[in-house]
Amino acid sequence: MGSSVSRSVIGLLLLLAACSPSKKINKDEVQTLQNLKSHIQYLADDKLEGRRTGTNGEKLAMEYISSQFSSTGLQPKGSNGYYQAFEVNEGKQIDPATQFSINDKPLQTGKDYFPFAYSANLQMDALPSIAVQEADMPWFVNLKDGLEENKNNPHFDLAAYVYANCKKAKDRGATAVILYNTSATDDKLVFNGKDKSDRLSIPVLYIRKEAAAKYLKDPSATIHVKFTVSLSEKKRTGYNVVGYQDNGAATTVVLGAHFDHLGYGEDGNSRNTSKEPAIHNGADDNASGTAALIELAKKLKVSKAKKNNYLFIAFSGEELGLYGSKYFTEHPTIELKAVNYMINMDMVGRLNDSSKTLTVGGYGTSPNWSMFYFPKATRINTPSLLYKFDSSGTGPSDHTSFYRKDIPVLFFFTGLHTDYHKPSDDPDKINYKGEYLIVSHILRLVEWYDHELRLPFSKTRETQTTTSARFSVSMGIMPDYTWTGTGVRADGVSEGKPAQKAGLRAGDIILQIGDYKITSMETYMQTLGKFKKGDKTKVIYKRGNDNIETPVEF
Ligand SMILES: [Zn+2]
Repeated sequence: MGSSVSRSVIGLLLLLAACSPSKKINKDEVQTLQNLKSHIQYLADDKLEGRRTGTNGEKLAMEYISSQFSSTGLQPKGSNGYYQAFEVNEGKQIDPATQFSINDKPLQTGKDYFPFAYSANLQMDALPSIAVQEADMPWFVNLKDGLEENKNNPHFDLAAYVYANCKKAKDRGATAVILYNTSATDDKLVFNGKDKSDRLSIPVLYIRKEAAAKYLKDPSATIHVKFTVSLSEKKRTGYNVVGYQDNGAATTVVLGAHFDHLGYGEDGNSRNTSKEPAIHNGADDNASGTAALIELAKKLKVSKAKKNNYLFIAFSGEELGLYGSKYFTEHPTIELKAVNYMINMDMVGRLNDSSKTLTVGGYGTSPNWSMFYFPKATRINTPSLLYKFDSSGTGPSDHTSFYRKDIPVLFFFTGLHTDYHKPSDDPDKINYKGEYLIVSHILRLVEWYDHELRLPFSKTRETQTTTSARFSVSMGIMPDYTWTGTGVRADGVSEGKPAQKAGLRAGDIILQIGDYKITSMETYMQTLGKFKKGDKTKVIYKRGNDNIETPVEF
C-alpha cells in the first residue's frame, strides 16, 4: 500500500471529476475513501487471522492502529503508551500435569476422562473397590440410577445433580469421587471450564463411557487408581488502543470502535455452519468502525471544533462480552466525569445502497440529541442518509459500558447481514462510499455539538446485550459477562420484565431459578430454556451479603 500508488489514483479520479460535470468528487472524499479501503483491507487481511483477543492477529492490528494514531499526532493515552492491557478470565483449563491411570494403564486426558472444573488440585494413589463406598477412600459413583430415574423429567439438571452428589460423598468421607455411566442414556457430560460452582476440597473426575466399559467392567473389582488433578485459570490479555487530542478543554468526547473479532471462531460466537475452522476476517465487524475511528481522528485534528478534547479508543475483547470497554470504564485513563458524551461505531461498512438507512442507537441518552436530528435544517447536511433511531443506551456493543456510567452515548450501525460472524465478512462487500457518508455525518455531528459545554444525560429502557434469541422466556437482565464469581450478575434490569417485577436490581447475582442452581452463564441459559411463558417459580439472588428468595413469573 505505497503512497505513490494513491497519488496517481487521486490524480486519475480528479481528472474524472473534472471531465464528468454530474458527480463532483472532492479531494477529501477521494483521500478518505482510499484510506478507509486500506485500513479495512489491512485489518481484514488473512494475515491478521481474524484479530481474536490475545492472539498475534490482535497484536498486528493494535500496532497498526497505534501507528496511525501516532502519525496523526495523537498523544498516547493508554496505561502503557497507546496500549491498555486487560485480563480476560475464561474460567478453568486442564493443565498438562493432569494424569490418570487405572491398574497402571494411563488414560488419555479429555478422550478417556476429565476432571470437573470445581475439582480440587490433588494427587492420589489408592486401591478402592468399585462397589464399596467407604470413608477415607475414593468413591466410584455410577450415574446410571440418577439418569434412568430422571429419564422422563425434562427439568432434570445433571450438572447440578453431579455437584450435589459429590458434595454429599465428600461430607460422608470420600477422599475423591470418580464418576462413570453404565446406562444407555447419553449424559453429554463435557469439561466445562466456565462452571463457577464453588470449588470442592476433593478431586472429582469423570471416566467416559468407553474407558469405563474397558476399566470398570467388573463392579466387584478392587482397582489401583493413581491420578494427579491440576487445573488453572485460563486467562488471556487483551489490549485497548487509546489516543488523545488535548485541546485544553474542560470536557472530552470519547470516540470508540472495537477492533477485535472472532479469529477462527474458537470462542463459540461464530455463525459459521461449516465444521472447518476458517479465518473470520471481520471487514464490517468491526474493521469498518476501526477505520472510521482512525479517519475521524485525522479530521478532528484539523477541525475548528476545539471546545472538547477528543479521546479515541479502539477496544478489544468486545466479542467476548465488552471486556475492553468495561475495563476502560472501570480503569479510565482520563477523568470519566470529564467525558461529555461517547460515540461508538460498530459495523458501519454495509450501508444498504437502496434504503441508505443508518441506525442511530442511544438516541434517548440525552434530550439534546434531538437538536441535531430535528429540526430538518441540520439534516440537510447529510441529505442522502436516512436514520433509524433506537433510544436505548444499551445494546450488543461498547457504548453500553459508557451508558452504564451515566454518559450520553450514540451508536452507529448499518445493520446485520448474512455474513455477520462468518468467514465471508470480507472487504469486497464493504460499501466504502456509504462509510464515507457516515464518517462525514459523525464529523458534522461532533462539530455541531462543539458549541455545547456538556450534554445532559437521561436514562433509557434497557435492551438485550446479546444478539442471540434462543429462549422462549427471559428474566430481562443484562448479564455481566466479565463476572467471574458463582451465579450470574446483572449489569442492568429491563423495565417491566420478570426480574424487575420480582424486585431484582442491577448488581444482584442470580444463584437459583426454580430448583436449578445457576453456576454460570451456560447454566443460566440452559435453565431459561426449561421454562415457558406463564410459568411461575422462585428465584434466589444475592444482594450484598443476603440471599433473597422471591417468586417470579415468566
Ligand atoms: Zn462488532
